[in-house]
Amino acid sequence: MSLVTTKKMFENALNSDYAVGAFNVNNMEIIQGIVEAAQEEKAPLILQVSAGARKYAKPAYLIKLVEAAILDTGLDIALHLDHGEDFDICKKCVDDGFTSVMIDGSKHPFEENIKLTKEVVEYAHSKGVSVEAELGKLAGIEDNINVDARNATFTVPEEAAEFVAKTGVDSLAVAIGTSHGAYKFKGEPYLDFERLKEIHSLIPDTPLVLHGASTVLPEFVKKCNEFGGDIPGAQGVPEDMIRTATKYGVCKVNIDTDLRLAMTAEIRKHFVEHPADFDPRKYLGPARDAIKGMVQHKIRNVLNASNKR
Ligand SMILES: [Zn+2]
Repeated sequence: MSLVTTKKMFENALNSDYAVGAFNVNNMEIIQGIVEAAQEEKAPLILQVSAGARKYAKPAYLIKLVEAAILDTGLDIALHLDHGEDFDICKKCVDDGFTSVMIDGSKHPFEENIKLTKEVVEYAHSKGVSVEAELGKLAGIEDNINVDARNATFTVPEEAAEFVAKTGVDSLAVAIGTSHGAYKFKGEPYLDFERLKEIHSLIPDTPLVLHGASTVLPEFVKKCNEFGGDIPGAQGVPEDMIRTATKYGVCKVNIDTDLRLAMTAEIRKHFVEHPADFDPRKYLGPARDAIKGMVQHKIRNVLNASNKR
């Protein structure tokens, strides 16, 4: 039981039909809900922290909470920095004891992304830490986008191969149609599986990562809206598409929005049904259970990762 890198987890997941869930955390209840689910499901687990979460909860709190989760459950957990934007934040996290960091140089030109990623890889590897990078652009992709535009934003398979060879990165986040947030598609959801297959065939030993992979389950949006929420038209990636992606090299699936929705829906419901409650444990307890339920659902039905630890 300890903080572990993603190396072994990805080796096991690479040529299989399951993926490791990477769930974003920023407080105690979220961490506890996720960890309880992974423990019961005997699933490998990555907990990830964004720059925003570091700022919100402070790194020391998050690291100690994850250490507490390991102490309490005996699980091996990878602690990952999500979307590190420069060398400095990656170095800070490596020095703080993270076992995996993402350097997101996707907004830079190709050569610059290579240079930045390589720099992080050299430092992280010298400390035994894994590195994820990103190629292609994720945000705001619509289903009716034409092929030229797709080539400008989606990951180009030949570039992915060159990028991995030149940087020595451990895993690669690819853009094939997923996006961050609760509003992923305006029309029919679309993921470019042909592109994913081609990337996987060119770099078969590189674990691929899917960001923005929440499904935005309608029942949770409905529950939020029923109890005073206002989240119209939210739409995510259908769960069967995520399951398909795990067959073509996707080893890590990032899920954040679905946890946020599950937690918020439960708290909204509690406030409406129990207006006299003002003890935070009364609503944060059920919220923690809602996180656990969502993570269990993902591990069992989407990631296919039960009993894979
Ligand atoms: Zn992301």
